[in-house]
Amino acid sequence: MSDLRRELYRGKSKTVYEIGSESELLVQFRDDATAHNAAKHAILADKGRTNSAVDGFIMQILAEQGIKTHWLKRISETEIIVRRLDMIPVECVLRNRAAGGICKRLGLEKGRSFAPPIFEFFFKDDALGDPLINTAHILSLNWATEAEILGMKALTHQVNAILTPIFDQAGFILVDFKLEFGRYQGELILGDEFTLDGCRLWDKVSAEIYDKDRFRQDLGDVIAFYQKAASRLGVPLKV
Ligand code: UDP
Repeated sequence: MSDLRRELYRGKSKTVYEIGSESELLVQFRDDATAHNAAKHAILADKGRTNSAVDGFIMQILAEQGIKTHWLKRISETEIIVRRLDMIPVECVLRNRAAGGICKRLGLEKGRSFAPPIFEFFFKDDALGDPLINTAHILSLNWATEAEILGMKALTHQVNAILTPIFDQAGFILVDFKLEFGRYQGELILGDEFTLDGCRLWDKVSAEIYDKDRFRQDLGDVIAFYQKAASRLGVPLKV
């Protein structure tokens, strides 16, 4: 397969390759970590393997629960085959509790609960710092249809309803997370990834942080904590 590989896109922590198929791509999870809009960068040993394992575990749970995803199979410890989606350039953020950007933006105390959870759209554009947007921007700029907007919101809430109890059983609070969607044969499909880079996960008892905030805030032992979370969730790290 490696001789057919052609790099299509190199993101901040994943590289996407064409593999001689119209409908499938290869995604490689790298050891790169970035934060603060890529102003901070490091290579964290074993991050790619850990993220790929967690992503595959979560994507398979979501698929079993009826969520259509791009994830097809894990072909090595850091590489997966996915459906080739036409990506929608927005980030869908779901917040069960206040943390990160929303605390500053609305002057909220970190950790306060949201009932119901808060859904937010951001425009995926590093140069602009991923600004907060609403459905009017998405519609008028033709990034997605009204049905796709409703679909992204509904699917993100469904993912939250599926994952919150799974993390709870492992002793974690799923504070917030980010999803990205795309189109495949006209249908809205979950793409990108679900890893500890794109969610916030706190220990239910100690409130200890197990997600990328360890890297953002220089708390140390980033991958050790990712792997502790994976182990508590029952994620097999090996293929
Ligand atoms: N998030 C992400 N990628 C982004 C922005 C946010 O994966 O480009 C995730 C982030 O890890 C968190 C959630 O989305 O789990 C909400 O992030 P927030 O808006 O608070 O971002 P911050 O202000 O912390 O950058």
